[in-house]
Amino acid sequence: MSYDPSNIFGKILRGEIPAHRVYEDETALVMMDIFPQSRGHTLIVPKAPSRNLLDADPAALATVIPLVQKVANAVKHATGADGIRLAQFNEAPAGQTVFHLHFHVIPVYEGVALGA
Ligand code: 5GP
Repeated sequence: MSYDPSNIFGKILRGEIPAHRVYEDETALVMMDIFPQSRGHTLIVPKAPSRNLLDADPAALATVIPLVQKVANAVKHATGADGIRLAQFNEAPAGQTVFHLHFHVIPVYEGVALGA
């Protein structure tokens, strides 16, 4: 399937709807998830238009993965989380709901269930 720019993250990237932006550069936007699975749930959204990992440009991935690592470390430090879950879904049967590539950085706290 092809990329449809009318998806919600496309609209956020174009500034058409608001988001809690925590970092932005020429390659990616980092923002808070609107329905967090835990305190500090953060999303990394590469700006290059791709539907998910399956159609992403490898050059764009090479840039975004170090950013994912930086965000994971920053979120862990900022939240005091005990661990970080990294999630990324490809196509609806796998759990993808927004069809613009993104990575979830989900802080995990000992003794606290995700989504609680
Ligand atoms: P997916 O299942 O596609 O990997 O996850 C999409 C994520 O985007 C979900 O965690 C959902 O809460 C989040 N989300 C959906 N709509 C919005 C929005 O308008 N703003 C933000 N910041 N996050 C959103």
